[in-house]
Amino acid sequence: ITTHSEEQNVLCGPAPVSALPQEDVHHLILSRAAKWSHLDCFECSVSGKKYTYGEVMDRALRWGGILSRVAASSSRDVKKVGFFCTNTPEFPIILLGSLAYGSCFVTFSSNYTVDEVASQITDSEVDVFVTESGLEKVLEDALNKIGKKLPVFVNGNSAYGHPNLCQLIEDPARPFIDPVKVPVESAATILYSSGTTGKPKGVVMSHEAYTANLASFTHPDFYNIPPYSGGQQDVVLGVLPFYHIYGLYVISLLNLYNGVKVVSFPTFQPENFLRVLRDQQVRVMHLVPPMLNFLVKSPIVTSRDLASVEGIMVAAAPVPISSAKMFKEKAPKKVKFQEGFGMTEALGTHMTPLNDERLGYCGKTVVGVKAKVVNEAGEALPEGERGELCLKTPSLMTSYYNNPEATKDSFDCDGWFHTGDVAIHEDGFFSIVDRIKELIKVKGLQVSPSELEDLLLKHPGVGEVGVVGVADERSGELPRAYVVKKDKSTTEEDLHQLLSSKVSEYKQLKGGIRFLDSLPKNATGKLLRKDLKKIAAND
Ligand code: AMP
Repeated sequence: ITTHSEEQNVLCGPAPVSALPQEDVHHLILSRAAKWSHLDCFECSVSGKKYTYGEVMDRALRWGGILSRVAASSSRDVKKVGFFCTNTPEFPIILLGSLAYGSCFVTFSSNYTVDEVASQITDSEVDVFVTESGLEKVLEDALNKIGKKLPVFVNGNSAYGHPNLCQLIEDPARPFIDPVKVPVESAATILYSSGTTGKPKGVVMSHEAYTANLASFTHPDFYNIPPYSGGQQDVVLGVLPFYHIYGLYVISLLNLYNGVKVVSFPTFQPENFLRVLRDQQVRVMHLVPPMLNFLVKSPIVTSRDLASVEGIMVAAAPVPISSAKMFKEKAPKKVKFQEGFGMTEALGTHMTPLNDERLGYCGKTVVGVKAKVVNEAGEALPEGERGELCLKTPSLMTSYYNNPEATKDSFDCDGWFHTGDVAIHEDGFFSIVDRIKELIKVKGLQVSPSELEDLLLKHPGVGEVGVVGVADERSGELPRAYVVKKDKSTTEEDLHQLLSSKVSEYKQLKGGIRFLDSLPKNATGKLLRKDLKKIAAND
């Protein structure tokens, strides 16, 4: 693969093999699904419940019919469908059905607490919810907290009298809708990301952003699973959360696009994961670095478990070279190791080419993507020099929802998107070497330091606070708080307690709490995060 430069020090992916699709996501996926309607589509790794592609299409269009009834009976349009579930095989039905009705699909992390769900409902303005029995109480409490009543559909039995999702989508008496043709520039999804600074923001992704990336990311020089063309169907492990872009796009949409079967995992249980890997003869895995570490370090994973594996793609956080090397020793010799780079705001932009492996790099720019590394003056840097990674791609977000200021701050005047990641490039390969943005990544999931700092500052005993990520072998990073006390009697326990009910498990301060007399700040009193990170690194 050769990357070429149109402007000096700007790297571009290869030319597309065909023209980019000019249709909405659901028409693109549904028309391809019709070719392999008899194949398995999604299957639950725990219950074994599964749907073929044909069944997913049917039920998606019935779900669209249900949304149309909701709109008619409430005399208001269903512009946004909120999805608050663990990984279940109904995911593609709700996603495609909501899009086919003309709604935008908004995901809520299944780890979220009542407060987090409540704040995201207010921000995203969803009209209808899909949840499941185990999460229904969190949703109800969140809706009560903000005094909102919304139609809710429950996967499983409802304790609050809400309709049962599966009974409805299985009911042959329910009408289908004709999929609506929506303008390709309209919003398909809103997923949450904290971007370079501040609290989580809704990332508006258009239909055309997805369809462009589907066509470019699956270029045969990069992508290890070809579209189904007869014979053995590929199976992938749907273990990464579907509410995150990696799960929604790479695991779900990309595989739906190619006629692959996805086995979904509501939670990660090592024995179950290995059983499915062996039984389903999985050929290509898509994982995050902590899972790669599990495969190489856990004594329960043997080379025999990995016997069917021909390829692995790891993304969402830095991939330790040592783990990549250990994986190659444990897996069959033919295995292709690929690292990928992507963002909620830009979908997939970099990947290791299939025949050009270089460990320690997150790959080359894929089709349609332009990338450069810039210094503080905004000048594109040559090979080997560190700077901020900037991107141009048809798959960039449209905006942060209802947040023109944050949107404006993410793009420069020439339309380049600033990632907040520090990178270098060499021979067309990029490597992420640091982050200038505030973001902390725990097991590939985003933690916003500002969100935690705002909550900690509400404690009367806290004067100042700065939260940074500290390296951790199992999770990649863990959040740690540095606190200047206002009241001497404040303890670590008080602060852990404050956060315990407010934020998800993965955002808890498992990197610890340290008390300092002062925090590093600049002349205007702004926290110097870089200096705090240095303190943390030596602590
Ligand atoms: P998200 O939007 O949650 O997918 O987070 C995107 C961020 O994850 C990027 O801006 C990077 O900071 C980080 N990231 C993704 N892929 C990689 C990678 N291969 N190496 C290092 N960091 C990565």
